[in-house]
Amino acid sequence: MPSVYIKTYGCQMNERDSEAVAAQLVAKGYSMAGSEHVADVVLLNTCSVRDMAEQKALGKMAALAGQARKERPGQVLGFLGCMAQSRGRELIDRLPDVDLVLGTQKFHRAAEYLDDLLAGRRDKVVDVAEEEHSEARIREHVLNGNGNGNGEQAVTAFVSIMQGCNQRCTFCIVPFTRGEERSRIIPDIVAECRELVARGVKEITLLGQIVTSYGKRDIPASDGKSAFVQLLEAIHEIEGLERIRFTSPHPKGYGDDLVEAYGRLPKLVESAHIPVQSGSDRVLKAMHRGYTRERFLGIIQRLRAVRPDMGITTDFIVGFPGETEEDFEQTLSLVGESGFDNAFIFRYSPRKDTPAATMPNQLPEEAKEERNHRLLEVMNAQGARRYQALVGQRRQILVEGPSKKNPARLMGRTRCNKIVVFEGADRHRGQLLDVKITRTGSFTLYGDPAILNLDEQ
Ligand code: SF4
Repeated sequence: MPSVYIKTYGCQMNERDSEAVAAQLVAKGYSMAGSEHVADVVLLNTCSVRDMAEQKALGKMAALAGQARKERPGQVLGFLGCMAQSRGRELIDRLPDVDLVLGTQKFHRAAEYLDDLLAGRRDKVVDVAEEEHSEARIREHVLNGNGNGNGEQAVTAFVSIMQGCNQRCTFCIVPFTRGEERSRIIPDIVAECRELVARGVKEITLLGQIVTSYGKRDIPASDGKSAFVQLLEAIHEIEGLERIRFTSPHPKGYGDDLVEAYGRLPKLVESAHIPVQSGSDRVLKAMHRGYTRERFLGIIQRLRAVRPDMGITTDFIVGFPGETEEDFEQTLSLVGESGFDNAFIFRYSPRKDTPAATMPNQLPEEAKEERNHRLLEVMNAQGARRYQALVGQRRQILVEGPSKKNPARLMGRTRCNKIVVFEGADRHRGQLLDVKITRTGSFTLYGDPAILNLDEQ
């Protein structure tokens, strides 16, 4: 049967979509190739959030097209995901060697279209139409990374609970590439989680573009609890599941019900990635984010009141149109006031058809670069202090497998989402282990389970 290699750009949602496509293809008899050089089919699952991500995928496909036609004349090449959705047929006009362009609501049709392309029944396929209930079709798992992995059993898994976003932040292309919010039903998600736990998964991360808006339109609040909190409660019931995470939430979604859930659902770990984007009210308003700096700080305060050990990370955009030095300084000061452990920092990138792309006072690249650098320095210094403060403390980790940098060691994650590397044995994989933190590296902790778990040795 034909072999497929999938290369994924962008966010965890894309990783999850690629995994589901891989699992669907394997179920249809395809095998997953270890590299593009030996594959019969190469698929690029693309990201449109920044121009750089699009340029990378376009460059990669141009290189593949040249190389493929020389080395493997029959190789099928395809674009999936956000850029496929936003550019459609234009991609084939630009790169005529591309055979398949599959949008974000059509992942489940990959096998059918590839069968046809490989058998010569179709010449080219472009399918970027909307499809009802496509949100319920991302449910198959490979449980060894993106399907190009090594076959080791995964301890953690991602579960897609919804697609799309209605927030319409002025910088964001996601509402155009992923469409309106569509949520899966609770029993369907719970069944998928149960199946994963039966296969050995201990930690589940719920995924969506705006998870805190889960089920808003279709599932009424009950006892003052939003649909999202009702979903967390239902998943919390699953026996054998140890930890629940979710990403990405929206600050507006941290109502009292969600904050309170942290206090009473022990499997909901004390970790939150809450994208703030800017520390300036003026910029937040221009971004159409729907909260103020004060409200954001209030959320952090309430979360820490319930779980003092809460690890909080965020996303920032620097150089948004019209961002002044004063606005930027408010972002800098928010780092300290919020006590973030880490942040993803992005330079503003104008995206086609988004309101911010045509706003006046677009900043030059040098200014964005300079602010990116300054924010990174402040964030790194604070991150180092916060990681250092954990040295000497005892933390529970879930052991995921070999460390990426040094496979002779193992790595696990604390409940507050920090990576801990330690000397261990393969039998530790999948275990919850208490370790003593002995030192820190750059956003990595090093631990010693021997000190605390002598009976384990
Ligand atoms: S909430 Fe997130 S996904 Fe939705 S428009 Fe804003 S940035 Fe984009």
